[in-house]
Amino acid sequence: MTDRKQEIAANLAAVEERITAACAAAGRPREEVTLIVVTKTYPADDVRILSELGVRHVAENRDQDAAPKAAACSDLPLSWHFVGQLQTNKVRSVVGYADVVQSVDRARLVAALSKEAVRTGRELGCLLQVALDAGEGGRGERGGVSPDGIEELADLVAGSEGLRFDGLMTVAPLTGAYAGRQRAAFEHLMDLSTCVRRTHPAATMVSAGMSADLEQAVAAGATHVRVGTAVLGVRPRLG
Ligand SMILES: *Cc1c(COP(=O)(O)O)cnc(C)c1O
Repeated sequence: MTDRKQEIAANLAAVEERITAACAAAGRPREEVTLIVVTKTYPADDVRILSELGVRHVAENRDQDAAPKAAACSDLPLSWHFVGQLQTNKVRSVVGYADVVQSVDRARLVAALSKEAVRTGRELGCLLQVALDAGEGGRGERGGVSPDGIEELADLVAGSEGLRFDGLMTVAPLTGAYAGRQRAAFEHLMDLSTCVRRTHPAATMVSAGMSADLEQAVAAGATHVRVGTAVLGVRPRLG
C-alpha cells in the first residue's frame, strides 16, 4: 500500500468507527447511515483510492473541479453527489456525471435540471438544500431554500420530468438562531423531512453532518453524512 492509501484507510476506519458509535448511541442500525466522502480539492487519484477501499459515494461542490475528476474516474463504481451552489449555466456539465444533486434551491434550477435530464435520458436524484438561517421566502447565504419554501419546491421537483425527489439536505448554519447548535439544527431538518414525507413518502434521504458534527446528525436521524476533512485531511485551499 502507498503511504497515501494507508493514510486514507486509517482515516476511513476512524470515521467508520465514529459512525458506528453514533448509530449505537442512537439505537439505530449502522446500515441506516450512508457515508459520502467529499473529495473537493483532492485529486482523482484519491478518488480511485477511496473506491479501492470500498467507498461508493463521493461528493463535489464545484463543477470546474468535479467534471474532469468524474471523467477520470468514470470506470469506477461510484455515485457522484453535487453539493455546491449550482448556476444554471453549469447544469449541462453537472448532469453529465452527477447521480444526485443535493443543492436544489430554486425553481429556475429545477427547470434547467429537468430539461437536461430529459435531453440526456437520465433520471436525476434531487435533494432540496434547506437554509435553516434564511428568513421567510429568503435564501441562505450559502444557498438553500428557507423552510417555508420546501413544500412548493418539493412539489415542483416531484412533478418535473427526469427528476426524482429524494429528500432534504442542510449545512449547519454558522449564524442566526442555530449557530453552534448543530443538534437542534439537524432535529429541525428531521421535522421538516417528516413533514414533506407526508406528501412525498419516497423522499427519505436526510443529508446532514460533516467531519465536525456527524455524531449530532446521526443522533438526529440523518441517513447520509458528508465527510471531507476527516477522511482526506485538511484541504490545501478553501473549497
Ligand atoms: C466541504 C463540504 C462538506 C465536508 O466538510 P468537512 O468539514 O470537510 O467534512 C460537506 N458538505 C458540503 C456541502 C461541503 O461543501
